[in-house]
Amino acid sequence: MKTLFKNANLINELGDVLTNQDLLVVDGKIAEIGENLCCDDAETIDCTDRFITPGFASMHNHSPMNIFKGIAEDVHIDDWFNKELWPYESKMQDEDIYWGAKLACAEMINNGITAFADHYFKGHLIAQACQETGIKGDIAWTIFGFGGDCSEELALATKFCEDYKNDALVNPRMGPHSPYMCSPEVLKEVIDKAKELGVGIHLHISETKAQVDASKELHGGKTPFDVVNEAGGFSLPCIVGHGLWVEENDLKYLNDDVVFAVSPKTYTKLGMGDGGLWKYRKQINIAAGNDGSASSNSIDVLEQIRMFALLGKWYDNAEDFTLKEMWQYLMAGHKYLNFNSGKLAVGYAADLNIFDLNTVSTAPVYNPLAAIIYSAVPSVNITDVMIDGKFVKRNGKLAFDEKEIITNASACAKEIYARGRGVTKLYF
Ligand SMILES: [Zn+2]
Repeated sequence: MKTLFKNANLINELGDVLTNQDLLVVDGKIAEIGENLCCDDAETIDCTDRFITPGFASMHNHSPMNIFKGIAEDVHIDDWFNKELWPYESKMQDEDIYWGAKLACAEMINNGITAFADHYFKGHLIAQACQETGIKGDIAWTIFGFGGDCSEELALATKFCEDYKNDALVNPRMGPHSPYMCSPEVLKEVIDKAKELGVGIHLHISETKAQVDASKELHGGKTPFDVVNEAGGFSLPCIVGHGLWVEENDLKYLNDDVVFAVSPKTYTKLGMGDGGLWKYRKQINIAAGNDGSASSNSIDVLEQIRMFALLGKWYDNAEDFTLKEMWQYLMAGHKYLNFNSGKLAVGYAADLNIFDLNTVSTAPVYNPLAAIIYSAVPSVNITDVMIDGKFVKRNGKLAFDEKEIITNASACAKEIYARGRGVTKLYF
């Protein structure tokens, strides 16, 4: 299978623009980039005035929670967890997880996300949604272990890691929920198992000030980062969900294999405050995240990074938080995923977005990065999305039946609302 994109403008992972380039895709990979390329047996697509970029990576999601979009609004974060989401989740069925995840996959592709890192139970249902829509998923099976025993979930997560270890579209991880929902012993047990299996971990750390204060009280002055470090969490590849309240002393634990996935829409919406994330960001590996639609209401990393820049400029300095830096946050996640993606370079996976910036929202285009970061509507301006050389969105239309997904997800939502809130064992 060959596709030749002609006369395109390329935006690479650093935000550099190369004009009038041809890009040849062969068997799912970028085979050649240059001027005046020819390939007789390729499908040839004229990309004059279009911009081809690597796809976006979204590094912290709870994709099945798309099914809860809009169910708990205008509440304090404590009530959001304890009185809304956890009680609803306690009655969740497999079909809610599957259709929620599939709806999320469809939305992500529509918004130009070609790979995402997920954190939820029943990873095999999310993996199925990935296979059926064509998106790449790095899926961490969530494990709670506050009561001290996690053996049942750990066995399921282990089986999931073994089942998907060599899958092309799905990369498995261990997902201990957080230091506040796992005891230090459980954290260590899960991290040891991840090391044994040769997979990374993905967990929430220091999302709120209350979590940091509670950790210090419970663990003799230790922050959540201290607790994760003691359990060995930074000695293997680690995706940190949020890290909004990171402290200066926590920075010593960070290394090239640790990335923070940031979701400012969630932070502002749930009133989570202004922790150290913005202040220390130049010492942290940052990538775009999302947190799922129960808190963010959309899976749109462009919106998240736009908010990150705007809040940063507002708090701090309008000359900082530059376009290129924000663009690199949208691309950064690929480095921490196992998909050979995120670069416009020969040999990399052909996971690509094509932008049409000749629209009322984005024209005139003095600077394509400004048009994308501050003006674009990704579902509109990203007309085509390719993953492993296959179009999953073509000429503005998804390559699968989106109506079926919407109908089934809406039916699940009705049932969820009718079943109501259950009694949850979880509390924070
Ligand atoms: Zn989260």
